[in-house]
Amino acid sequence: MIEPLEPQARLDQIVKLIAKHMETEVCSLYVLRADGVLELYATEGLNPGSVHLAQLRLGEGLVGTIAATARPLNLSDAQNHPAFTYLPETGEEVYATFLGVPVLRAGRTLGVLVVQNKAAGRVYPEEESEALETVAMVVAEMIAAGGLEGLSRPGVTLDLTRPVNFSGLALCDGIGIGRVVLHEPRVIVSSLFNEDVETEVSRLVQALAILRESIEDMLARRDVADEGEHRAVLETYRKFAQDRGWVRRLEEAVRNGLTAEAAVEKVQSDMRARMMHLTDPYIRERLHDFDDLANRLLRQLIGQDGVGKDATDAVVVARNMGAAELLDYHRGQIRGLVLEEGAATSHVVIVARALGIPVAGQVKGAVSMSENGDPIVVDGETGDVHLRPPPEVHSLFADKLRFRAERQQRYRSLRDVASRTRDGLSIGLQVNAGLLVDLPQLVESGAGGIGLFRTELQFMVASTMPRAGDQERLYRAVLDSAGERPVTFRTLDVGGDKLLPYLAHGAEENPALGYRAMRLALDRPGLLRTQLRALLKAASGGRLRIMFPMITDVAELKAARGFLQRELEHLDRFGYPRPVDVKVGAMLEVPSLIFQLDPLMQDLDFVSIGSNDLFQFFFAVDRGNANVATRYDDLSAPFLRALRTVVRAGERHKVPVSLCGEMAGRPLSAMALIGLGFRDISMAPPSIGPVKSMLLALDAGALADELRAFLDDPQQAGSARPLLRDFAERHRIPY
Ligand code: PEP
Ligand code: MG
Repeated sequence: MIEPLEPQARLDQIVKLIAKHMETEVCSLYVLRADGVLELYATEGLNPGSVHLAQLRLGEGLVGTIAATARPLNLSDAQNHPAFTYLPETGEEVYATFLGVPVLRAGRTLGVLVVQNKAAGRVYPEEESEALETVAMVVAEMIAAGGLEGLSRPGVTLDLTRPVNFSGLALCDGIGIGRVVLHEPRVIVSSLFNEDVETEVSRLVQALAILRESIEDMLARRDVADEGEHRAVLETYRKFAQDRGWVRRLEEAVRNGLTAEAAVEKVQSDMRARMMHLTDPYIRERLHDFDDLANRLLRQLIGQDGVGKDATDAVVVARNMGAAELLDYHRGQIRGLVLEEGAATSHVVIVARALGIPVAGQVKGAVSMSENGDPIVVDGETGDVHLRPPPEVHSLFADKLRFRAERQQRYRSLRDVASRTRDGLSIGLQVNAGLLVDLPQLVESGAGGIGLFRTELQFMVASTMPRAGDQERLYRAVLDSAGERPVTFRTLDVGGDKLLPYLAHGAEENPALGYRAMRLALDRPGLLRTQLRALLKAASGGRLRIMFPMITDVAELKAARGFLQRELEHLDRFGYPRPVDVKVGAMLEVPSLIFQLDPLMQDLDFVSIGSNDLFQFFFAVDRGNANVATRYDDLSAPFLRALRTVVRAGERHKVPVSLCGEMAGRPLSAMALIGLGFRDISMAPPSIGPVKSMLLALDAGALADELRAFLDDPQQAGSARPLLRDFAERHRIPY
């Protein structure tokens, strides 16, 4: 593999070596072309003149059968196998025993590797079949590495270059068209043994120094220097890069004879082998950080550091990655992100969403099937990924992208238009946020403020618990950039699906119903009090809005207020000025609160309905489970009646009621909310434009009448969706 040979000579050498070591008379390699034909690319033993001429279709003959079934065939009497097809040009009729294995890469057949012998009755033992399969893996890498394209007739393309479609999870909306940038370009360590220990040690030491320097550089970058959320991750990297144990193991491996890069690979795979079986999320995150660090070091040693980081139109393809790594790329140049793993709650996905990068997750096989520079399209709306798309698919998505850009342009033109319905009702449109990178969107969207600041995101993207000072700095930056616009901070909402890797959570049978949010905060008040103190200090002299998540009964709200009161007194005692105004609210996410609205409303300044969780608990449907999540309708009569009950209680008590779940961002649902009496809603920033263009065309009074008639009908148990659609069509309301 490492001999500097031309591609054909390398293939010839490989089949020759296999034949020699397996003591077979024939060894041949067939490569699968994009047109479904298996072409003989190299042979030892068959007629050399038949190379690039002998062909079989997928499913034809023994070789075609192996390729089609992706299973080996081990025969002692090949000619009598029903699938046997005779290719006269090869002269293979005299060979009776036959062992063929598929050349597989990520479960996909790239070709077939065959050995044959004249002696009938010989059977290749199981170990030989396995050995040949292992060799086939190496050959697969070689085919993937390219260089074979030019060996056949002009115009022939290999199967590896054909278009592939994947369907993954839609994790962040948007269309990305660009070229593959493999996040971890395959580093193939080809020189394993060193010739001089001291030279190699100094290479290692030097590469480590450069690695440390690059981490310092990243830490010093303007967007990281202060309270950037990935600062904590980089600080962990800094610690690891200084880790004596790691450096010592690397040096030891070099002293035992390996090259610096082979040492990095060995130490890393030892560590992976030791830690792989551990399921603790904290350890897995650390392993991932270490993997990332080792890869950086490897690229440094092989001289590939920063490959692709500057590419324009990059669609980053990765197995998985940390949030900090995404921020390594130039923001303006990433068109999309494709992850083999990844879930809606992965840190990298949270950050990508904040940056508006389309993401598809759970795209199995994406890394191994892509090569750097391959054209690729990501559809973040459906989760589909088209690798090496044919021209018609490419142009279809280019049209879609253009259409979206035009629509975005139209929405931008609405930015400074007052958000008022056609019949003159003023509606507050706010955004949900949670990271520093979200903040520019507050101004760009023209929103009235931040209706939900999810403070847990800072905790989720960090590898260690953010310190009080870090929290305070973030909150102050948020308040500064919001200026006059109000910001509603939600206290830590962890537990359930939002686990902090560094905080021990016991395993729970039903995490959504478990030890989370306020339940945890009230039992372990240290966290809550630190956070409240940070919020109060950040807003010192200004205005502050705080809301508590997952309040289930009034007593919990009272207890939370008690902690807030103590922190206010703490400020007085130590001479910090209080905020001039502190408003306290509760999130209504648990149905039990709907049946204690009067006492609840007497005790707070505002309510915000978390419809994501309320819906989940109302219908007993796991919000993350695709099998049930869409089974019930959030526009159904029972759910809308529940929402209306809360709005009416708010009106009675003169307590503003807002809603900040995903439904606020869907124009048709937002329309229903306005019809129910909501005058303020909060949504993801990209939804502001579509919701605003809906409400500008809305006659809210007329809708309220129709919706009231529907909900007041005691027999009505269905969905209001058809009514709402019909209303929108009749009034030409875009939804
Ligand atoms: C909700 O539950 O609707 C909500 C806004 O909170 P989160 O989505 O963060 O749980
Ligand atoms: Mg919630």
